[in-house]
Amino acid sequence: MAAPVTPPPPTWTAEDTEEVDCCLCGVRGRLVHDLAPFGVVRCPSCGLVFVSPRLRPEALQRLYDDVGYFEGGVYGGAVDGGSADGGAQETGRFDPAMVLQRTWTAGRLALLDRVRGRAAGGRLLEVGAGYGLFLDAARRAGWTASGVELSRTGAQHAVDALGLDVFCGQLADAPLTPGFDVVCAWDTVEHVPDPLDFWRTARSLVAEDGVVLFSTPYVSSLPARLLGTRWWTLKPAEHIWHFTPRTHAMVLARAGFALTQVVRSPLAPSNAGRLDSLVGVARPIPV
Ligand SMILES: [Zn+2]
Repeated sequence: MAAPVTPPPPTWTAEDTEEVDCCLCGVRGRLVHDLAPFGVVRCPSCGLVFVSPRLRPEALQRLYDDVGYFEGGVYGGAVDGGSADGGAQETGRFDPAMVLQRTWTAGRLALLDRVRGRAAGGRLLEVGAGYGLFLDAARRAGWTASGVELSRTGAQHAVDALGLDVFCGQLADAPLTPGFDVVCAWDTVEHVPDPLDFWRTARSLVAEDGVVLFSTPYVSSLPARLLGTRWWTLKPAEHIWHFTPRTHAMVLARAGFALTQVVRSPLAPSNAGRLDSLVGVARPIPV
């Protein structure tokens, strides 16, 4: 395929940004890293780390609609699925990023079977479906798979090239029938405007005996703590919430979920090679 033309990254100014409060406590955060026009702040009440000022919603949509957001990301030229999260561009036939992506997909499907204690089958929803790599694998494993994706480029590929059922837009606007056996959100909740809203919506969609699996970078990881503003995952335009296992558990609990398992090892297939990321498992707390 022809080498994609990657546009230069957008330059953001203060006019593109807005201040936000902690999604749990409703208070302003205290500055941790000054990355003007952005700021990385920590809530003085609960310790949640987030970006404020951050991009306004219109500016954020421009970013996700930018083809280069995916083309220049993990998938390089070999785009055939998954959610993008940066990385070096590769155009060769053998793409280490894609090998990793497939390892995560297989590892996460295996983890899902283990936490449920039974073989694949039932209704699975992926929020932040990217190009559809995980959903496609889930469908082949026996799941009835649906997805939601904000990027038009990603959603279009998932629907047109893979024939997947993917809604393009925000989770709250997706016409979904509740009662999903599984809700997955791979590298998604750090991007959403309000994680509490996000998990509340997920809670309304998952079956009472269902399970939620997700992954995120985490700000208490060794690279995040050692590298400060040089942490490669900081990306303040896109990653607007930075969790730890403790703050994940707090936000999830407020939304009606119990965080039941956290995989941090970079040796676990579901989290392979990721020194600064975790995979979490949560279950609905009975009402
Ligand atoms: Zn707070």
